[in-house]
Amino acid sequence: MRLDKCYFCSSTVYPGHGVMFVRNDSKTFRFCRSKCHRNFKAKRNPRKLAWTKAFRKAHGKEMVVDSTFDFERLRHRPIKYDRNLMAKTIQVMQRVAEIRAAREKRFYEARMKDRASKQKAEALRDLEMNPELTKPVQEQVTRKSQLNAARVTKSKTAVERAAAKQARAAAAGDDEDDDDEAVDIDED
Ligand SMILES: [Zn+2]
Repeated sequence: MRLDKCYFCSSTVYPGHGVMFVRNDSKTFRFCRSKCHRNFKAKRNPRKLAWTKAFRKAHGKEMVVDSTFDFERLRHRPIKYDRNLMAKTIQVMQRVAEIRAAREKRFYEARMKDRASKQKAEALRDLEMNPELTKPVQEQVTRKSQLNAARVTKSKTAVERAAAKQARAAAAGDDEDDDDEAVDIDED
């Protein structure tokens, strides 16, 4: 049983899953799901999409050079079945996985080493750009209430203006409106 790698996102493609595309020069491309296949057909570059392994490796977010990767290399020469070799391989696989996990952890820790200081610097810059964040809460509240009061008076004047306009319109067209209504009622 051979587990292939997705051409686009580099995840494992299990037998019976995904799609295989064979180009007319007989190069085969395997895709783990329609998302990867669609992105390939749209001629997108996997190195520019943050969810692919190619992007993560190209941007230093994952371990790239490591001897434990050699165990997963594609080999085209078939190996004759050997019981002892199989037993040894299965034992060793666990140990290799442990070693790789430890190395990946170390890599992650090195990558995240100065995260706290970076976040702190960012927060300080944020405070510098927005000085109102450092003002006492009471002051903020009074300012807010002032703003609200201003808005209310504005709306009040608007309402008053509208009412005055209505009154004027009613005074001007009172008689005509009444006549029209009377005619309508007669017709009905
Ligand atoms: Zn994929």
